[in-house]
Amino acid sequence: MCRKQLLCLALWGALACGPGGDGPRSDSSRSTNAVSTVDSESNCSLPAQRTTVRAQGGAILETWQLRLDDVLTPGLPDEPAFLDYRAAIERDGADLRRPVSDPPVIADDAAAAIWRDTFFNNDLVFEEGVGSVDPISCLDALLFARQAERVSQIEQPTEFIASVLRKQTESGTDLFVVFAAGSEMFVPRGWYGFELVPDLLEEGWSYWYVIHNHTVQRNGDRLALGVPVPSTSDVQLLRHVARGLGLESVRVTNGFYTFSASVDELARFRAR
Ligand SMILES: [Zn+2]
Repeated sequence: MCRKQLLCLALWGALACGPGGDGPRSDSSRSTNAVSTVDSESNCSLPAQRTTVRAQGGAILETWQLRLDDVLTPGLPDEPAFLDYRAAIERDGADLRRPVSDPPVIADDAAAAIWRDTFFNNDLVFEEGVGSVDPISCLDALLFARQAERVSQIEQPTEFIASVLRKQTESGTDLFVVFAAGSEMFVPRGWYGFELVPDLLEEGWSYWYVIHNHTVQRNGDRLALGVPVPSTSDVQLLRHVARGLGLESVRVTNGFYTFSASVDELARFRAR
């Protein structure tokens, strides 16, 4: 990867998802299934074929191989840490499609500019309908749950990042997932797993989407979901990945809702 990408990664680690809250807003669009959000008969489970590529100091890089058909269920994982996270959010009435959190503390003009752009991007999604924000899918929930089982997403919020590639076969669609996460807030630099993608492209995989999560925020004495919208530095990084590796679309999830947009739609977002 080029030096510019390294800069992007550095920016991402430093800034990416800090401005995740969206300030206090009135939005009563609660989840419609707040009481019982997980179907225990879902059969949405981790794929049997998982390989650890690297693991060191709390960071992991692993790959999953599965069939798209295996994760098309409307159910969600039965993973205890995932269920605990969702229950905590629901107890605080925070399972909102557009999260409500404390306003940011803005220290200087530079931070104010970042927040202006963050709010611009949030409005693109929630007021202009750019991209989509839908209840989390089985596969995306499995990715979230994988990190939640490693590190409590309430007590020590942390991000994961995953690349999802797909390939059509005679019997359906195969998926190849590169999952990366650390044990601190941000995925450590050098652990995103993008370096595995070129060989996969050579093998005929197409680069369907990159997904990462935005972690819990506060709303007074209650929890708030992270805003499912790419931050300005996310946009910069993902555009770079799209140019270099042919990425098709991007997602941001918070364990309840997932933002999804094509790379073309990403052009309307502000980046830094
Ligand atoms: Zn982010």
